[in-house]
Amino acid sequence: MPVSILQHRLLRASASISRDHGGLAEVGAGAPLSTGVEDLHALASRNSMVKAAKLTLGATTLDRFVFEGPASGGERIRIGVFAGIHGDEPAGVTAAKRLIYLLAAHPEIGTGYQISVYPVCNPTGIALRTRLSLTGKDLNREFWRGSTEPEVQLLETEIRKGRFNGLISLHSDDTSDGVYGFVRGAVLGKGLLEPALNAAERFLARNINAVIDGFPAERGIITDCYQGILTAPPTVCLEQQPFEIILETPAAAAEELQVQAFLAALETIFREYQDLLSFAANL
Ligand SMILES: [Zn+2]
Repeated sequence: MPVSILQHRLLRASASISRDHGGLAEVGAGAPLSTGVEDLHALASRNSMVKAAKLTLGATTLDRFVFEGPASGGERIRIGVFAGIHGDEPAGVTAAKRLIYLLAAHPEIGTGYQISVYPVCNPTGIALRTRLSLTGKDLNREFWRGSTEPEVQLLETEIRKGRFNGLISLHSDDTSDGVYGFVRGAVLGKGLLEPALNAAERFLARNINAVIDGFPAERGIITDCYQGILTAPPTVCLEQQPFEIILETPAAAAEELQVQAFLAALETIFREYQDLLSFAANL
């Protein structure tokens, strides 16, 4: 795939994103701001496009909500959205939850997609409001290293089985005063993150420091990252490599603004990736 052409086009397209339409973020304002997921199970029971599941290993249960969007011809694009892996970052959990409400209310946003949402990846940490899980582990340093943490094992199984085209993780950083992101995996991810950050900037400033979280950054985009974070399996072959994006909001900002920034970024990624694929199909 001629990635450089695609990226060039993506960057151009991002400059023309309409700023007067509200999009996902405004549509969802006012939905519940809690980290519980029982309301989502209730939603799934009355909406055929959302399927809920409880994944269990020992005493640990993770909730998964899969939105199956309207078909657009061909196989659906599979995206995984992961939040709450650090228990003291509630904005991502709220955004992930609200994403499901919004997709249920406005399924056209997810046309051609199957979006699997894991809103609370660290349930004990969320309950305790701590970064670490109850066992004292930073779960986001445990992936693909033979971890015995049940949350990590459950998620690794999901990621293997899900064969995602893209993985998006939502985090908040208490040392950053702006939004930024990490990009890994497929090269085109960078061309998705740039417009996503543009969209998030409608709500929160971008962190433009040269170094963020100890990594060199270019206008809020970091291409290096920690070992052991939630990613695609290390064994995946190059052609099947998904894009991987980690969105970070400033934890000290108002939670509602963080949620809006996340949702604006997510909506942009969905739209841009769809555009990218249809552009590639016409080459
Ligand atoms: Zn985090």
